Amino acid sequence: MSADDVSKYMDKLKISDSDFYRKGTRASKMGLPNSTTDKSQRATQDQVLDPRTRMILFRMLNKGVFDDIKGCISTGKEANVYRALIEEPEQQLAVKVYKTAILAFKDRERYVVGEHRFRFGYSKSNPRKMVKLWAEKETRNLKRIFKTDIPVPKPLHLNKHVLVMEFLGTSEGYPSPKLKDAIIDPQKYPQLYNQLLAYMRIMYQECRLVHSDLSEYNILYHEEKLWIIDVSQSVEHDHPMSLEFLRMDIKNVNDYFRKRDVEVFGERQIFMFITE
Ligand code: ATP
Ligand code: MN
Repeated sequence: MSADDVSKYMDKLKISDSDFYRKGTRASKMGLPNSTTDKSQRATQDQVLDPRTRMILFRMLNKGVFDDIKGCISTGKEANVYRALIEEPEQQLAVKVYKTAILAFKDRERYVVGEHRFRFGYSKSNPRKMVKLWAEKETRNLKRIFKTDIPVPKPLHLNKHVLVMEFLGTSEGYPSPKLKDAIIDPQKYPQLYNQLLAYMRIMYQECRLVHSDLSEYNILYHEEKLWIIDVSQSVEHDHPMSLEFLRMDIKNVNDYFRKRDVEVFGERQIFMFITE
């Protein structure tokens, strides 16, 4: 089946048109010449679910990876996340679709240096290859973290730049909040803080990874626990910048919990705790 045939099946995918387009993005902002700013071109450029992505989702649907795609959980710079359903037995999934927009990956390069596998074949001029690599990297990292006691969504399925994983949310389909938005009993903060530091240590010691974008934006509050997400840019502990990234992660975590009146540990002390 060709990518063009896919549109015929689009009604099976039940995603509203508004979810296909990123709002407010202009071709000119993306460094494209003006001649490409006509409507049809822009639509193609901005379309999140380009024919290839639709094809992948359609194949997943056919293979029974899921039976239906519901609404969009999140539209961001680098990825859109959708909620999908398996009917029998009922199960919810999160489908993360990486975007091929060039801008989103402009400053991601530094995460790739020093990682042979991902540097090799990493081509700035081929966004499709690039998003595939990020999705692979996120899957690999999730698998590694999932083996430990750290709560992360279980990776279930990967195809090109589309990653299917466990959905974190209620049985009614509401996604669990980011830590920054979660309503938490203030008394619980010190324990959550300590727990998070333990996760960071396990991630370093056992998974040999540094998250590298850890903050209240990439932690979900689910079933009264902190769940780590968005590990596509996580680096190996021997990456040349890993300790620099670790310091930033520690700072973000400390800043967040300090604002919640937790008596935080010194950053140096935490650094030792994680790496020693
Ligand atoms: P963005 O460009 O939006 O920052 P991103 O690369 O940061 O994309 P993620 O952080 O992995 O993508 O996911 C974006 C949002 O989607 C999360 O903040 C969270 O709200 C939601 N989300 C991601 N994974 C799941 C999941 N497994 N279950 C429920 N919600 C999820
Ligand atoms: Mn994120």
